[in-house]
Amino acid sequence: MSNLIIERPENIFKLFSSLLNIDGVGEKKLKLLEKKIGPYIINLLFYLPIKTINRFQNTSLKDINHGEIITCEVEIIEVNIPNYNFKKKNNISKIVTFGINEEKSIRLDIVYFGQNTQYLKNIYKVGNRILISGKFESYNGLGQVVHPDYVVSNNTSNEIPKIEPVYPLFHGVNQKFIFKIMNQSIKKIPDVTEWLSHAVIEKYKFKNWQTSITKIHNPGNVKDTELNSIYRKRLAFDELVANQISMLLIKNKITKINNNLSPDNNSQIIEKLYKNLPFKLTENQSEVVNEIQKDIQNQKTMVRMLQGDVGSGKTIVALISMLHSISDGSQSVLLVPTEILALQHYNTIKKLLAPMNINVALLLGASRSNHNKKERTEVINSIANGHVKVIVGTHALISKNVTYKNLSLAVIDEQHKFGVKQRYEITQKGTNVNILVMTATPIPRSLALTAYGDMDMSIIKEKPIGRRHIKTYVLPQSKINEVLLSVERAIKNGALIYWVCPMIENSENEDLIAVNERFDFLTSFFPNIDISLVHGKQNQIDKEKAINDFKVGKSKILVATTVIEVGVDIPDATIMVIECAERFGLSQIHQLRGRVGRSNKESSCILLYKSQLSPIAYSRLKILKETDDGFKISENDLILRGPGEVLGSKQSGNIDFKFIDLHLHSDLIPAARDEAVNLLKNENQQYKVNTLLSIFENNDAIKLLKGG
Ligand code: ADP
Ligand code: MG
Repeated sequence: MSNLIIERPENIFKLFSSLLNIDGVGEKKLKLLEKKIGPYIINLLFYLPIKTINRFQNTSLKDINHGEIITCEVEIIEVNIPNYNFKKKNNISKIVTFGINEEKSIRLDIVYFGQNTQYLKNIYKVGNRILISGKFESYNGLGQVVHPDYVVSNNTSNEIPKIEPVYPLFHGVNQKFIFKIMNQSIKKIPDVTEWLSHAVIEKYKFKNWQTSITKIHNPGNVKDTELNSIYRKRLAFDELVANQISMLLIKNKITKINNNLSPDNNSQIIEKLYKNLPFKLTENQSEVVNEIQKDIQNQKTMVRMLQGDVGSGKTIVALISMLHSISDGSQSVLLVPTEILALQHYNTIKKLLAPMNINVALLLGASRSNHNKKERTEVINSIANGHVKVIVGTHALISKNVTYKNLSLAVIDEQHKFGVKQRYEITQKGTNVNILVMTATPIPRSLALTAYGDMDMSIIKEKPIGRRHIKTYVLPQSKINEVLLSVERAIKNGALIYWVCPMIENSENEDLIAVNERFDFLTSFFPNIDISLVHGKQNQIDKEKAINDFKVGKSKILVATTVIEVGVDIPDATIMVIECAERFGLSQIHQLRGRVGRSNKESSCILLYKSQLSPIAYSRLKILKETDDGFKISENDLILRGPGEVLGSKQSGNIDFKFIDLHLHSDLIPAARDEAVNLLKNENQQYKVNTLLSIFENNDAIKLLKGG
């Protein structure tokens, strides 16, 4: 379906009507909703409860525990409501009731503080029977409910939802409001034409979309609220199909038939490079190089993932591929997530290519660059006119003002730090860009499909020979003095040491405080030892100096934040200390640990944890002690922390799903992919494709397709 135009089919227009059409939503409320939820009914329908409260009626007051929700019928025995007094804000009203249906009467008090008492007097009258629902507390041996959530008369008992969804709140809206507008929105759901095939619906016993989305907000029983209920599963399946459609369409856009001449045979240059290398490629590396070379010389665009554990030697494979891809006028780029890594790759590559007369350039973001404006413009110009053939850089490489003479290969290093958007955008910088994405974190194929779509795979299975097992220690922070002593001893024996400081989630500033404090502490503890400091907020010059001093052994300790997590390659460093290791994902520690053990020298990694680690958290860390195998480690991350840890951050756009729980729904992925392939095959199904792409239009990949 190459000529697909993405447009909203008419029969779902109603889902895209403004929330202004809902009673209770005016301009002011709309502004609030727009910001947190979105402007349309569909956005509200996709605003999911975080939990549910069970309000099925309790048959008796006897078996209720403090703190539980109680829903029961009571008779009002006594009403003590003082006259309302503005000045006395702490008015206490107490209504004494007895449970109905009890053998022996059981008392339950209903209590209000400072409430408008006239209102209370209207609803509570001695002798009436009412239904209340709220949190039960046991107070001085008596049962009570303070400010019940619901008080209704017996014949309107259905006003209390049996299973009440609880939504995430934000300033200006409360549960009752969301509940009210949600119920109206549900009533506005149009009849949509089924887009899933009969076979799929039969296989999973799915209900239609309207029912499924309704049940998320109005569950009939506890089972309906589970992540693997047929309703939730159906919605997740739809989302997976939309995801797979977009992945297939993006791949179509990326892969073209190359009518250019195949790149020159650069074997002479590559021979020369081999001669300059301080090592010989492993057999495994050579195989992978051949696979990639074949792809590059093929007419069809390459979309390939190179997977190899940390330290397996992916960079050299990337460089050789880049050399295979340059020819008269055509260029290769290496896109990396951090400036430190960009600098490092640039320096390595420049050195290796110096004897070959190949121009290499480094491009960082304007504000970060140590080039002055003029120099930076020159770099950009020489990329545009084809003067440089090999380009290394950060996100700056895909910015609007950077154009290429003829980009033929883009290598994306540490791709889990990037999203589908960046991968796509770099391919749009040329008419026929081959892509090679490199990753150290192995992921199961089905998961890879959701984040990257279908790619050919190359795997480096073995590390270069001579590498030794990294000895890993898991120690409480209280042992820091012993660690310091052994660090001192190691430095006397010529070791270089990384010291990584606690990562505090979402708080770069606190990270900085921690890393600065540690730097000060270590500097005063080791007055005669040079120590460097590196973190993300430094400018390029300071960063480069810190890393370089460490690399050449001028400083012996490099205190760092997780900026060194990916890629940094200083083979002489042999000890890695990680503080508050319990805050990291296992794969992340494995990456960090991979900064050492890069030569044939014995290396070690010390994981310090804050005291009182739970047994589970401790056994997690112990996994790292037991294995060096990145695959086993990422499997454990998948089990313990979910796919987010493995696929990359939310910000990278790899996991911005609404209904899909990749852990729970991963078995649906192959079927969803087949469904997507079938839908795209048939021109008559365009409106179905369009419906799916429209209702999930907030997804990053779909936004891209729509040119957003
Ligand atoms: P990663 O796969 O983690 O990106 P690198 O490409 O940074 O690994 O390689 C790790 C280290 O191994 C580097 O210092 C590199 O020079 C070295 N290296 C790569 N290939 C070989 C090899 N075949 N023999 C010995 N050392 C190698
Ligand atoms: Mg690397």
